Amino acid sequence: MSPGKVMLVGGGPGDPDLLTLRALRALQSADVVLYDHLVAPGIVKLARPGAKRIYVGKEADNHSLGQQEINALLVRLAREGKRVVRLKGGDPFIFGRGGEEIETLAAQGIAFEVVPGVTAASGAAAYAGIPLTHRDYAQSCHFVTGHLKDGSASLDWEALARPRQTVVVYMAVHGLAQICEGLVAHGLSADTPAALVEKATLPEQRVIEGTLATLAAAAAKQRAKPPALLIVGEVVRLRRKLAPGAGQPCMVRSPETLKV
Ligand code: SAH
Repeated sequence: MSPGKVMLVGGGPGDPDLLTLRALRALQSADVVLYDHLVAPGIVKLARPGAKRIYVGKEADNHSLGQQEINALLVRLAREGKRVVRLKGGDPFIFGRGGEEIETLAAQGIAFEVVPGVTAASGAAAYAGIPLTHRDYAQSCHFVTGHLKDGSASLDWEALARPRQTVVVYMAVHGLAQICEGLVAHGLSADTPAALVEKATLPEQRVIEGTLATLAAAAAKQRAKPPALLIVGEVVRLRRKLAPGAGQPCMVRSPETLKV
């Protein structure tokens, strides 16, 4: 029996056009695909027709597998000689636990490969018309998780509240009010532009724009739901000029134009 292999594949933020060719090749040669709740159905569909698809689900869902079980399943399938694709949303190494999964594979002597993907921040930025850096407004960009374990203590607020940078918060919906307040409490102006990009790159993409003072209330009113990213910084203002349809020629593509 030939030894199996695990490909840890980034499926991008949702639009199947954003898959890499390498990701597509991996999907088309897979025996088994294990996928998360964040992977869009249009991407899972691209797997080889004979491939077994296993949904490994949501954290809060009783029917889904825990991280230990996923790790054990990857090892077992690879030992059976299978070509296994572990398909993740965005990039596997950005808030994707990719490191934990390959650590187990490496420890067990299983061959693996990592295929990078377009992370949600890049997808959201491009499809919402918000450049993450800009020579006039932001010289750096921070990616942080808004999944606050014990209140606000886990974020480095001083670093995040500095001027002339962009902050992108993943998993931002539940802690949104707290995050916006924290940034203001640590020195950012309450007028700092901020946007919540929901379901980025998918046809249902929605952008809720405001400031650190207004965004949380607007998002609650519009019943914002995960998956969504919070983008904070002066670059959000550029959206008026750069959002799809804002000018000629169109610099960014809107999801609507991608239905082919
Ligand atoms: N590895 C992924 C991130 C996983 S963490 C990546 O690189 O993109 C899950 C968080 O990613 C979500 O809570 C949300 O904040 C963000 N996210 C993923 N897909 C998204 C999408 N299509 N639109 C907006 N946010 C998204």
